[in-house]
Amino acid sequence: MNVVVCVKQIPDPADPGALDPETKTLKRDVKLILDESDSYGVEMALQLVDAAGEGEVRLVSMAPNSERSGLATALAMGAASATLISDPSLLGSDALTTAKMLAAAIADQEVDLVIAGSESSDGYTGTVPAQIAAVLDLPSVTAAKAIEVDGGQVKVQRQTDAGYDDVTCTMPCVVSVTAGVVEPRYPSFKGIMAAKSKPVDEKTVADLGFAADQVGWKGAEQEIIDIAEAPQREAGEVVEDDGEAYLKIIEFLENMKVI
Ligand SMILES: Cc1cc2nc3c(=O)[nH]c(=O)nc-3n(C[C@H](O)[C@H](O)[C@H](O)COP(=O)(O)OP(=O)(O)OC[C@H]3O[C@@H](n4cnc5c(N)ncnc54)[C@H](O)[C@@H]3O)c2cc1C
Repeated sequence: MNVVVCVKQIPDPADPGALDPETKTLKRDVKLILDESDSYGVEMALQLVDAAGEGEVRLVSMAPNSERSGLATALAMGAASATLISDPSLLGSDALTTAKMLAAAIADQEVDLVIAGSESSDGYTGTVPAQIAAVLDLPSVTAAKAIEVDGGQVKVQRQTDAGYDDVTCTMPCVVSVTAGVVEPRYPSFKGIMAAKSKPVDEKTVADLGFAADQVGWKGAEQEIIDIAEAPQREAGEVVEDDGEAYLKIIEFLENMKVI
């Protein structure tokens, strides 16, 4: 079974850099790392291929400046190879262009399953996985909290506010996973060394059959109108325990629909 995982390489959230006031986008000229949201997809894919007993995990990523640091982490976890889409004309690309580029890189491959994160940590429109599915004309399942492969089908527990829905979908398909889906492994020293010789196939916009004016700022159909500071977190409510504080906690959790 061959699984392709979409992995976004993002500025380190501990030092995210700055927003460009003119373009209202995140400056991404710093070292990028593997988005933690996507380490769950990589781990899930490795476990599914292990369980199938054959096949491999491949990565696709679109990133500026031929950035590979995040890919190196996912390759060290155990993925076999990667396709990196990098091209100066991609600057300013919106979510749909990103999806079209990733879909074009996936379309070239024999693939049973495409896995993505539910939303990235730096952009989080949460739209790219469903857009990839639409471009490739594949079924899409979102917010998977568990995935099992059964013959030519995936069985997914799809997270909902109330719990989860059981969804069955024929393969090939695109599944986006939630953060809790599995516990990502840490790359071993052996994995880190092995990653250095794994193939990373770099593609330009032209390699994928697109013209420079179809992507980037020129090709964007979305526009960022405004950006604003996130509101400060308000102080939490302090509950003094008079012996029945647990009732207030239960009420709070019920209102949050956690229980
Ligand atoms: C007009 C416009 C211009 C923009 N210009 C820029 C810019 O110049 N620089 C910039 O940094 N951002 C820019 N952005 C933001 C950028 O388009 C989005 O971050 C990007 O398209 C992905 O969307 P997302 O992060 O919201 O993905 P989501 O839908 O939240 O991501 C879900 C999952 O999709 C997959 N995925 C998403 N993006 C990638 C990727 N690049 N590679 C591999 N997998 C991926 C991952 O698995 C991820 O977990 C721009 C946005 C707009 C609207």
